[in-house]
Amino acid sequence: MKFLVVILALALGYALWRHQRRSAPPPVQRRTSPPAAPQDMVACARCGVHVPRSEALALGTRHYCCAEHQRQDAH
Ligand SMILES: [Zn+2]
Repeated sequence: MKFLVVILALALGYALWRHQRRSAPPPVQRRTSPPAAPQDMVACARCGVHVPRSEALALGTRHYCCAEHQRQDAH
C-alpha cells in the first residue's frame, strides 16, 4: 500500500511538472543588448584608469573613476 502512495505522489508531481513546463511562457528577451555586451569605456581624467561610462563620474566633459579624483581635479 505504501508503494502505491509513492507511485501516486511521483505521478502527481510529474503531472504538475509537465503542466508547469507546458503552461509557462518562454522567457521574453526585452533587453536591446545582452548584459555581457562591452560597455562604452571612458578614461579617468586624473589617473587614466578606464571605467564604464555608466559608472564614471562626469565633471563637464571629463570623466573620473572615483569621487576622490573628481574632487582633486576640480581644484
Ligand atoms: Zn582616477
